Amino acid sequence: MKKIFLKPGREKSLKRRHLWIFSGAVGRVENGINSGDTVEVCDASGKYLATASYSATSQISGRVWSFDRNEVIDGEFFSRRIGEAVALRKNFGYWGDKTACRLIASEGDGISGLVVDKYADTLVAQFTSLGVERFKSEIVAALSRLDGVKTVYERSDLGVRRYEGLGEQTGLLWGVEPPEMIDFEEDSCRYQVNVRKGHKTGFYLDQRENRRLAGSLAAGKRVLNVFSYTGGFSVSCMKGGARAVVNIDSSREALKQAEKHLDLNHISTDRVDNLQEDAFNCMRKMLEQKEKFDLVILDPPKLIDGTGSITRGCRAYKDLARLGFSLLNKGGLLMNFSCSGLMTPELFQKITADGALDAGVDGQILRTLRQGMDHPVSLAVPESFYLKGLLCTCK
Ligand code: SAH
Repeated sequence: MKKIFLKPGREKSLKRRHLWIFSGAVGRVENGINSGDTVEVCDASGKYLATASYSATSQISGRVWSFDRNEVIDGEFFSRRIGEAVALRKNFGYWGDKTACRLIASEGDGISGLVVDKYADTLVAQFTSLGVERFKSEIVAALSRLDGVKTVYERSDLGVRRYEGLGEQTGLLWGVEPPEMIDFEEDSCRYQVNVRKGHKTGFYLDQRENRRLAGSLAAGKRVLNVFSYTGGFSVSCMKGGARAVVNIDSSREALKQAEKHLDLNHISTDRVDNLQEDAFNCMRKMLEQKEKFDLVILDPPKLIDGTGSITRGCRAYKDLARLGFSLLNKGGLLMNFSCSGLMTPELFQKITADGALDAGVDGQILRTLRQGMDHPVSLAVPESFYLKGLLCTCK
């Protein structure tokens, strides 16, 4: 196998089993290596460190497949890793015929660059790097052999692929064409997903446990679900006995589906309002009108998508926290989230505190929140922890 050599002293992160090799750490690349090739990564003295896929164009030049020189990277390898991921989900009961879960969480499951979500009998895959793109047929074959799977569908319509010289790709990879809407269950709630047109793979599975928590806290409350998408939190809250819910989202299709989700769960639409508006403007208007809620959920899209947008993003998160706290009744609850990988939990807590200060309330944290268990975080790759949240109350 061809080899790449790191610069002297740059092997530390691999020794700690991190899965990324940044371009700045790479010294020499043997002739004849192409992007996407599987290579041996060696330290400057030529000692084997890992087996990885190589990319000449990305800032991440290498993504580790294995730290075992004897492990062959082939269909069997992907089958094994996928099998481990299934076993993990089964272990905590997230694997079922009618349910949904994240099956492969990229680095979290040891397959850097691959995300696979399962919606009942349909798997939706995102190939974000050249390494997994090269092994697409092996990966799809391994996925197609899983019990009960009828469809493997691709949603690689992701901007990040361009860093690896890849275009966007969507469509059927294996099995039968998925129906327009796929039904699935989450706890006692029923949802539908459009895997062709929905955001990402169609549904935000990472919020499952937080939707459950919101539902358990919602009895008798008036709920504001900001950035509601298809109303996952709203269904859970209404099932939990919420008095009323207001959804805010800029997407008309998402709100239409939110209404369908109410029907599907036999919830009267009378007690749920859907506002298709910019969340920031809408919350400002509500504040002027002195509206109040007992539970406010803030789950914005990624507001920091690179080092260039940190300041702007932090300001937006602070503004949201301020508006959220301001719209709460005394003793109300705020669930504040950030899915930006670059936002640290410490910084998010500080921003939330600043928001409370600006709102003129004394806030208290009741619980820290995070992505669900089917989105595991590799201890060696802390970057795989991206969704963080705070459940707060205020006096
Ligand atoms: N909480 C949701 C997921 C939210 S995803 C769930 O549990 O399913 C973020 C949502 O924010 C998307 O639906 C997107 O349409 C919406 N959005 C993005 N920018 C917005 C804005 N400025 N105002 C309102 N909604 C916005």
